[in-house]
Amino acid sequence: MIYFIYNLSMNYPLNEKVTYIIKTLNNHGFEANIVGGCVRDILLSREPSDYDINTNATPEQVLEVFKDHKTFKTGLKHGTVFLVLDNESFEITTYRIDGNYIDYRRPETVKFSLNLKDDLNRRDFTINALAYNNKDGLLDFNNGQEDLKNQLIRCIGNPYNRFEEDALRILRAIRFASALGFEIEKETQKAIFSKKHLLSNISIERIYIELLKTLMGEYVSNVLPLYKEILEIFIPEFKYVAKYKFIENLNYLSKEKKDTSIILAIFLQPVEEHTDVLKRLKVDNRTYREVSFLIEHYYYLIEANNVDMRFSLNKMGKEMFIKLLKLQFYNEHIDQSYYKLCLSTLDYIKENKLPYRLKDLAINGNDIKNFGFKDQEISQQLNKVLSLVIKNKIINTKKEIYNYLTKIILKSN
Ligand code: ATP
Ligand code: MG
Repeated sequence: MIYFIYNLSMNYPLNEKVTYIIKTLNNHGFEANIVGGCVRDILLSREPSDYDINTNATPEQVLEVFKDHKTFKTGLKHGTVFLVLDNESFEITTYRIDGNYIDYRRPETVKFSLNLKDDLNRRDFTINALAYNNKDGLLDFNNGQEDLKNQLIRCIGNPYNRFEEDALRILRAIRFASALGFEIEKETQKAIFSKKHLLSNISIERIYIELLKTLMGEYVSNVLPLYKEILEIFIPEFKYVAKYKFIENLNYLSKEKKDTSIILAIFLQPVEEHTDVLKRLKVDNRTYREVSFLIEHYYYLIEANNVDMRFSLNKMGKEMFIKLLKLQFYNEHIDQSYYKLCLSTLDYIKENKLPYRLKDLAINGNDIKNFGFKDQEISQQLNKVLSLVIKNKIINTKKEIYNYLTKIILKSN
């Protein structure tokens, strides 16, 4: 990937709200910058996912400066104030030095600092330790710009120490490699392998967030095969997955960027005990159900004719059916022309309002009841009627369905 590196001069047009936040803090005598991921992304001409701001104002001072705005104090002990402007939320964080780390995962204490340099030095990678404001321009004390140009992910300081402080950084390095297509610098890479065991100290919630972002990265299929053994620290089941199969599925995975269930299904399909892994990752119930379903139906035969498709739609629900269809296109179980054919059948069903659910029928349970059916017979008959309607054996009008019901009543007497 060739990135055009933006030359971040002092006149870079920051968006209105960010400019407002920085100006307001400046007007009260404080320093303020955009910092971290957003600066990195601007330099790479990528759209920042959000703008983080750092300042030498203490959290109390930030709250005071923005007292006429909506703020949240949930991150206050880490020095972060959440400021809301027109439904958009901004993190404003006081310059910080992290104290001694305990348990390889969190600083024992958080100390505020008046010095931007302290705040940048505590950050994980050189490319994430850039700050910018319109007066001073780009602020880079760790050669971050150089590493951006050379497309390198490099820890700030000694990588072995930095991973001991917080082992999640091991996964973050891999995540940024996957998202940006950068290489991990040699020493940082060595430290990743030598400190990988420390990942067992990290909470699964933090790991899961980084894992998902890694799987959504554009370069996941190039990067993750190099780090399979890191993955095996928290998903040891991957030890029993052959490398070629692992890579094959990562290639399929590159085709989906958003849908968590599809992504996890493709990723975990080669793992026999995938439901154990899902539980360990503490995915929510819906994701658990969807991923299990998708893996179970990985090679399910999807018919392209509208009758069979309506039976599938009835069984799976439309949303899951579409997910499965996409999944089978990604995993090359169906080819592009078949995929398109299925989509056009789906459109045809929609446009012609062809019934496939009980609620699409011209009658309901009460009508069936009036014919003298009781209890579970009611739903049995409803489903029977639906099945005949889908097969075009009866037309979906009250009259035709009543005719049919009358006939079976007469027959049974
Ligand atoms: P994204 O665009 O995906 O949000 P990001 O760089 O903003 O990427 P975040 O996880 O949002 O990543 O973190 C924001 C910034 O905080 C990082 O750029 C980095 O400077 C710093 N940071 C985050 N996590 C750590 C960590 N574990 N150790 C050190 N610094 C960190
Ligand atoms: Mg961010």
